[in-house]
Parts: sequence; C-alpha cells; structure tokens
Amino acid sequence: MQYGYQCEDCEIAIFPATTRAELSWLRDRVHVVREVAKHAHTGLDSWMLEGLAFLDEHSDHSIVLVSRRN
Ligand SMILES: [Zn+2]
Repeated sequence: MQYGYQCEDCEIAIFPATTRAELSWLRDRVHVVREVAKHAHTGLDSWMLEGLAFLDEHSDHSIVLVSRRN
C-alpha cells in the first residue's frame, strides 16, 4: 500500500514515499515542522518537503490521509 494526502476540496492527492504514521505525524505537527524547515534547508527528507508543500498549498482545505494499492 501507498499512503498519501488528499485534498477534499481540490480532489487531488499526493503519495510521498513514506509511511502512514509519518504522514499523520507531519499533518499533526505541520506548524512546528514548517518553523524547523525555515532554519534547516538541508537535511529534510524529500517526502517531508513534498508533504509540507502540499499542506501549505491546501492549508485552508480539508486534508485526509488516503491509501492506494501499488
Ligand atoms: Zn485543496
């Protein structure tokens, strides 16, 4: 299974290469992670950058965790 974020308003989804637990963690802590990211431009995993960009782009929208078969 792959896990990702889906925006219910825009009906688009992304599936970064990570686990469901990590995606859930990032979504719950996006404000904290964004602050850390401002000061640490290197060392962030690509799934985290991808997830942050999506959460930023849809910050006023309803984001749900979704899964799909490979
Ligand atoms: Zn959206």
